[in-house]
Amino acid sequence: MSSSNRIHAIDTVAAYPVVPMREESPASTNHFGENVFNEAAIRRFLPNTVAKKLLATIRGEAPFDPSIADDVANAMKEWAISHGATHFTHWFQPLTGGTAEKHDSFLDLTDAGEAVMNFSGKNLIQGEPDASSFPSGGLRCTFEARGYTAWDPTSPAFIKRHRNGATLCIPTIFCSYRGEVLDKKTPLLRSIQAVTKAVERLMRCFKAPQSHTRVTLGVEQEYFLIDKNFYLHRPDLVQTGRTVFGSPPAKHQQLEDHYFGSIKPRVLAFMTEVEDELWKLGIPAKTRHNEVAPAQFEVAPIFEDLNLAVDHNMLTMEVLRQVADRHGLVCLLHEKPFDGVNGSGKHNNWSVAYGYRNLLDPGHDPQENAVFLTVLCAIIRAVDLHSDILRSSTAGAGNEHRLGANEAPPAIMSVFLGDQLMEVMAQIEKGGVMKSHHPDAMRVGVDSLPPLPRDATDRNRTSPFAFTGNKFEFRACGSSQSCAGANIVLNTIVAESLDFFSEQLEQLSDNLFNEGLQKLLKETFGRHKRVVFNGNNYSDEWVAEAARRGLPNLKTTMEALRAFDSQVSKDLFRKYDIFSDMEIDSRFEVFQEEYHRKVRIEGETALEMAQSIIMPVVIDEYRRLASACQVAMDCQFAGEQDVLRQKAALLGRRMTELQTRSDVLARALRGLHEEILAAMTDLRETVDALEHIVDDARWPLAKYREMLFIY
Ligand code: ADP
Ligand code: MG
Repeated sequence: MSSSNRIHAIDTVAAYPVVPMREESPASTNHFGENVFNEAAIRRFLPNTVAKKLLATIRGEAPFDPSIADDVANAMKEWAISHGATHFTHWFQPLTGGTAEKHDSFLDLTDAGEAVMNFSGKNLIQGEPDASSFPSGGLRCTFEARGYTAWDPTSPAFIKRHRNGATLCIPTIFCSYRGEVLDKKTPLLRSIQAVTKAVERLMRCFKAPQSHTRVTLGVEQEYFLIDKNFYLHRPDLVQTGRTVFGSPPAKHQQLEDHYFGSIKPRVLAFMTEVEDELWKLGIPAKTRHNEVAPAQFEVAPIFEDLNLAVDHNMLTMEVLRQVADRHGLVCLLHEKPFDGVNGSGKHNNWSVAYGYRNLLDPGHDPQENAVFLTVLCAIIRAVDLHSDILRSSTAGAGNEHRLGANEAPPAIMSVFLGDQLMEVMAQIEKGGVMKSHHPDAMRVGVDSLPPLPRDATDRNRTSPFAFTGNKFEFRACGSSQSCAGANIVLNTIVAESLDFFSEQLEQLSDNLFNEGLQKLLKETFGRHKRVVFNGNNYSDEWVAEAARRGLPNLKTTMEALRAFDSQVSKDLFRKYDIFSDMEIDSRFEVFQEEYHRKVRIEGETALEMAQSIIMPVVIDEYRRLASACQVAMDCQFAGEQDVLRQKAALLGRRMTELQTRSDVLARALRGLHEEILAAMTDLRETVDALEHIVDDARWPLAKYREMLFIY
């Protein structure tokens, strides 16, 4: 790119046509779920008896009956064709972090050579992609390279449209020939099962009537939008998703005027189309707003069943990218596309319901309070025991710029409870509430407390794991990451902790239950309260305090990943049949390799840009200065000579530095990731300094003040 490209990009954005207001009505609920093979479609396309059986499977009430497979497949095909589909695909989530699809058409030929559209039960239930090029961490040798995809009926099939056609997408799991898992959905489903079982066991201790357990998730997704003209002229954005050079402009987010600000018309038009698409896919997009950094935004849906919510978040990211492209924009999902302004995360709002009751809702009577406090204590215990594994689920090259850097949230995992709940827990710890005057009317003695209030006060924005009224909000996930990983860990550690409680409660006779539970809550909270922190998580005092409390502070990706590969982690995941030891080892290898590769790609991109884009401009600038110096000397302009000499000296120093630091990076690229990262930081410092010295009209890279403000 030359500087004229940069200027041209700005002019192009400036000439962005003003689109007239759309006349037709915006998205309506009539279109909600129209691209989903949902209950309405099932009832319309399948005979009653078959529909009933399928719906029971979807609701988790009965296993799938293979005898209806052909009927279901045929109905799906008819429905898909009525929506313009010609192809189908098993849609899965390999360890690449994204989604994968291989399309097959419904086309078949009869013996007479006539073309027909076919889709069998076998096609629906199982696929056999040649999967040798997906990361497996050594789980699959090429001689048994086959992978299998298997239908997940609990996440409905949907239609993906493109300009001149459509594809039926069937959510599936993905495993190897020998059954080892190669994806993120299988362990997620297993972990949901584990926590469901643990909840049911606990609720039996409380003599609750049998009911259905529902683990729920609402994902707040942050992202940046920039004009495509700038994006295409930044090789670093194209190659790595983030800017490896670029200095923050004078004004960025200091005035806090972007957060919740009025949304620019171009962005609003984009958001409206995104929502329209999401609603058609049955994704209940609910909230949209400007985020803290300039050009940063958020979309959040109404919460759903966990498995579905994770699929829907993967789809949301895809829709964001595609719709942006149609609007001449690029959606950046990287955790830290721009240095010096906020990065992007994904808030993972998690909760669990039993029957109609959200177990994280304090409730209205002593019985409900007791269950609530038990689940709360179990979660505190879970996070304290396994905060390192929880942290590991968010590890990655992009997220490393948030966690452990000076950005929210920190790498130290702690739980925010809020003042009111803290008070309740303090009373339980003191045992004071046991002196209640109505021992019969209560289960835990907490009946002497007023109905537990929702925490209406400060919602601590700095906490990585905050109780927010009726759910826990885990804020450490990266904006580009699948939230499957975080929820696999969360479900499993909570299951283990709930079982810890059940094991002891099951020993208690009815008349000792209240007292026993109270004692258990008291002990557990006492033992694990060190993980509770209600203060400012960004402060240096907290870092010191957390160290005193013995809480892990895993700043780097590799430190975090090692926690996942530890013996404790293996024992935990094996116990709950989530991962075998081998599957953990393989995942560790995949994540580690991915991290190293990403760092290397960034390093190579930075080096190439420094040498082939920045250096030539700097040399040119130097030449101009040198000839100006010559003129001043020839004319014996003393004052001008001084100015020009100083400028030339400054530029010359930085030019030499640019070369030296490029050489260091080139050497580092043959070594370890720490060296690459350090060399990149140094090189960036030089380039960003040069950005302020070189003639603005000649600077070749789109600047932050342009990318973040001109759209
Ligand atoms: P914020 O963190 O910005 O204050 P909200 O309170 O609006 O966010 O909610 C964030 C997300 O939490 C939404 O997606 C919402 O649907 C979800 N949520 C609310 N209740 C639950 C719940 N019981 N389980 C899971 N997610 C929930
Ligand atoms: Mg939030």
